[in-house]
Amino acid sequence: MKPVAIIGAGITGLTAAFYLKRKGVSVTVYEASGRVGGVIQSIRKDGFLAEFGPNTLLETSPKIGQLVRDAGLQSRRLDPDSTAEARYVVRYRRPVEMPAKPLGFFTTELFSWKAKLSVLREPFIKPRRDGMEESIAQFVVRRFNQEFLDHAIDALVAGIYAGDPYKLSVTHAFPKLKALEDNYGSMIKGQIFGARERKKRGEVAKDRAPKFSFDEGLQVLPDTLAKKLGDAVKLNTAVTKFTKTADAWRVTTNAGEAEHSAVIFCGTAMKLAELAIETRTPLASSDGERVAEGRERGISTSAYSEIRYPPVASVVLGFRREDVAHPCQGFGMLIPKIEGFKILGTIFSSSLFPSRAPAGHLTLTSYIGGERYPELASLPPERLFEIVCEDLRVLLGVRGKPVFQNCVFYPHAIPQYNVGYGRFKDLMNDLEIKAPGLFLAGHYRDGISLSDSIVSGINVVERVEKTVNSGQPVRT
Ligand SMILES: Cc1cc2nc3c(=O)[nH]c(=O)nc-3n(C[C@H](O)[C@H](O)[C@H](O)COP(=O)(O)OP(=O)(O)OC[C@H]3O[C@@H](n4cnc5c(N)ncnc54)[C@H](O)[C@@H]3O)c2cc1C
Repeated sequence: MKPVAIIGAGITGLTAAFYLKRKGVSVTVYEASGRVGGVIQSIRKDGFLAEFGPNTLLETSPKIGQLVRDAGLQSRRLDPDSTAEARYVVRYRRPVEMPAKPLGFFTTELFSWKAKLSVLREPFIKPRRDGMEESIAQFVVRRFNQEFLDHAIDALVAGIYAGDPYKLSVTHAFPKLKALEDNYGSMIKGQIFGARERKKRGEVAKDRAPKFSFDEGLQVLPDTLAKKLGDAVKLNTAVTKFTKTADAWRVTTNAGEAEHSAVIFCGTAMKLAELAIETRTPLASSDGERVAEGRERGISTSAYSEIRYPPVASVVLGFRREDVAHPCQGFGMLIPKIEGFKILGTIFSSSLFPSRAPAGHLTLTSYIGGERYPELASLPPERLFEIVCEDLRVLLGVRGKPVFQNCVFYPHAIPQYNVGYGRFKDLMNDLEIKAPGLFLAGHYRDGISLSDSIVSGINVVERVEKTVNSGQPVRT
């Protein structure tokens, strides 16, 4: 059997390649850049560990822990400091701790009595059953109230998607919230009555899932997987075209051509839009019937260029402990737009993982840009450091200059599952049917988190196996 081609050595592609190889399937991983890991980027310098992309991996599925064990990384797994549980949301221009227990919600100063009463009223609000797709903003205002959106959900959406709550689809970006309404008629009722079913399915809600990293940051995971794949990983090798021939997929890169039994695309949606996909064998229509014999046909992927990936800059600053008034004990703080700051939020990185700063220092990781202020993300590093320091001065009482500063600009950070995203998902299903042996996996299809990407990489291996064994394309 010809090797399976995997496009992209981000965590999705490396996970898929690692498990295919373990099953005895030969693989070639093509990576356009000169490094593995995709958006994951950790560096250690001057005693600080800077994590620019994702900071933690959530164990939402048993498959995550299994990958860590299969990769032999159990001893390098780093669980967060048990005292770093507190999460803050900025209100009245200062970080206010979020209530850890449900009853704390009624005493917190984060929300007015009007917002608190809207939570008590939520179980009595009729579910929407007309099939109209709503934004997360519409959904929250309908079931709770505007204050809840402006002071909580807006900050959460910035923290997860760097997105705009008025554009993100509740159905596609927050499918579990929508499912609570659909299945239980209410989010509050669903939280209470759905707990047992979620436990049975082995699912862990994202807000309760254990989070972890590795001794030298998350980069340890892709680096280890790549090491195990050895020469199969081809760096600086951008794929430009796939051609389906009579009995194989021909993959064209800047380095030449090679034949493969199947192709798994684990790159980004905007790169998928740039790829030329041709098929020289009969094309199958969605119902499996042949529609064209023996002609060379191109399959257009240009629609994927409409998927938005706003820019984000990650800014990591190190300070002397005595130069920061706030204890910075906890996970970090989220900042709603209404509070008027430029940064989207800050992770208290060295509270979470003390080894991320030398003794007597702390590391703070802040994000700028996203859908809220896209124009700020591409500012020169010195300007970004100034902006972050200005905001942290007000929010955390930062006094002195940082003793460590570093940043990474992501021109296309996180895909926005905006209202209407279902059209792209349908196109992806359709593409797999029109081009049997081509598989799509990763953050642009199966959820944007690191854990979603890992699970997507594991699941695509099962789909490849089923197709290879049955000779039929498998619908997702
Ligand atoms: C700033 C930031 C912070 C984040 N924080 C968190 C977090 O805290 N928790 C969390 O769970 N998730 C977080 N995420 C999301 C999560 O990290 C990503 O969704 C996940 O890592 C995506 O992995 P991937 O392999 O699907 O894609 P990517 O990491 O984007 O990798 C795709 C790879 O494909 C390559 N490629 C693309 N096209 C081609 C081609 N034609 N030929 C060859 N190679 C190609 C690219 O060069 C890239 O290396 C964050 C993301 C960002 C950007």
